[in-house]
Amino acid sequence: MLPDSFLLELKYRADIEQIVGAYVQLKRRGRNLTGLCPFHSEKTPSFTVYPESQSFYCFGCGAGGDAITFVRRAENLDYLEAVKFLADRVGLQVPEGSVDDTGHRRRLRILEMNREAARFFHSCLMSDQGRDARAYLVKRGLTKKTVTRFGLGYAPESWDTLTAYLRGKGYTEDELTDGYLGVRRKGGGVYDAFRNRIIFPIIDLRGAVIAFGGRNLGDKGPKYLNSGDTPVFKKSRNLYALNFAKSAGRGDLILAEGYMDVVAIHQGGFQNAVATLGTALTGEQARLIAQYTREVVLAYDSDEPGQIATRRATGLLEEAGVGVRVLAITGAKDPDEYIRTYGPEKFERLLEGSESAADFAITRLRQSHDLDTAEGRVAFLQEFVRLMADNPSPIQREVYLSKICRDLEVDKQAVAAQLAAAIKRKQQTARKREAGQLRAFTSAAPGARGELERQKYPRQVLAGEGVIAYLMKHPDSCAWVREQVEDQDFVSPGDRELYQAITAKLSQGHPAEVVTLSAVLSEERVGRLMEITTKDIYRDQSRTEAKEFIQVLQEYRNKKSDEELGRLEGEELGRYIASQTAHKK
Ligand SMILES: [Zn+2]
Repeated sequence: MLPDSFLLELKYRADIEQIVGAYVQLKRRGRNLTGLCPFHSEKTPSFTVYPESQSFYCFGCGAGGDAITFVRRAENLDYLEAVKFLADRVGLQVPEGSVDDTGHRRRLRILEMNREAARFFHSCLMSDQGRDARAYLVKRGLTKKTVTRFGLGYAPESWDTLTAYLRGKGYTEDELTDGYLGVRRKGGGVYDAFRNRIIFPIIDLRGAVIAFGGRNLGDKGPKYLNSGDTPVFKKSRNLYALNFAKSAGRGDLILAEGYMDVVAIHQGGFQNAVATLGTALTGEQARLIAQYTREVVLAYDSDEPGQIATRRATGLLEEAGVGVRVLAITGAKDPDEYIRTYGPEKFERLLEGSESAADFAITRLRQSHDLDTAEGRVAFLQEFVRLMADNPSPIQREVYLSKICRDLEVDKQAVAAQLAAAIKRKQQTARKREAGQLRAFTSAAPGARGELERQKYPRQVLAGEGVIAYLMKHPDSCAWVREQVEDQDFVSPGDRELYQAITAKLSQGHPAEVVTLSAVLSEERVGRLMEITTKDIYRDQSRTEAKEFIQVLQEYRNKKSDEELGRLEGEELGRYIASQTAHKK
């Protein structure tokens, strides 16, 4: 653990205004500074820097913390790397031996091993045993230049070629399995995870090989195999070829379905193509994309699953504030085949002609119905209404409604009434689903709970927030708060963790500041802490107000659910009623 004294010194020297200023254009606003958030795409600044507390918070995406947290996110570093990065910049020496950097060293080992493996796979591809693999790539139209640029490789059809090679280089069985290159055998030992596959190394923004994707050349096993999550790789947070695409110099990104598509699109001269890593687009990836662009062209397969994936991705991207256009690929099943068949120039024209997501969906719908018959028109309108009910923009709904009704010569009022009813039904379903989620919240993963708790116990959650905010501003009141508030009084596990971390620091006589807390809390928790401490309502909280928050927490302390109440008997029930009346006073 780094000593607090060092962290405070670092905070004093590494001025957050300067650190952030290197990435974000900041404008002074009163005591604070604002700018466009580097972590999500936005047009009006909601990213704020607080020089007084040397911290930042984005009201748009909830990112927040100190200079270390900022550098971690901006440079995609782990905690210790970020500390070193900052210390270097201001000429501070990170105290030797004060840090347990086993995790850090383990990650470095895996990254080195991955680099070795990528080189090995590439040399296999270029050697005799890679003949079939090379033939396959030639058949797919890839040039040698492209193969080198993407560092493509070949994993031979063998159980121990790579693992034996890496063992010879000194890597342990644990390291092989941790990095997902080796699989543990039941009887002991490890075997190669990738066999008889074309290998696509996945490279992060700093040029490190963090994982691998493998395309099967035989018929054993799945068509695509990807590294699972490892200490250096999280599938849901990375994108294939983002290392090239981010500096492509085009305003938008092309999001394709697979490695081969991306490689083919790049070879065609479009360096801004990326893909997810063998899974459907996640919300995290959509937010990652939002850091680089405001517009995405979806270039998924033209088949049914591709169309379903297009709709899903559209929703996630729009939620992240990214505009979506959709590529209508006709005459080929995917972008790779399209470019091979028609050439890059036609692909460019396809890109230029790509429609907005809503236009695209309506065009597809029109094509799939025979609008010359009455039945065809009715079926079309029913699906059109369903589609529009999902469209969050009232203006777009109105525009499309008018256009379709005019084109089909149908009564607009009738269709509008249908649409209104569909929207109402959708809201009812959403409400039911929310109620179901609330019931399920106790079993939910800690990270996903925050929002749900706020809906279920707004008063209790707010009171908890108030107590945390008060503690941050009045550290000398820690003992007073600690006497009255128990950890369990926080219904939100995340806020409870904050309370525990803050009171632990304070009761040891250490300062509880964002800079010292970010050493022990996750980025998400630090963001939450910033959310709480930047709220206006807690700014000049008096002790009396703090007392009220504490009372709310105590009031809820012994409250039992109806179900639990039903099981109480005799003396226990009497005690419970007494405790509840005591709080009501
Ligand atoms: Zn933001």
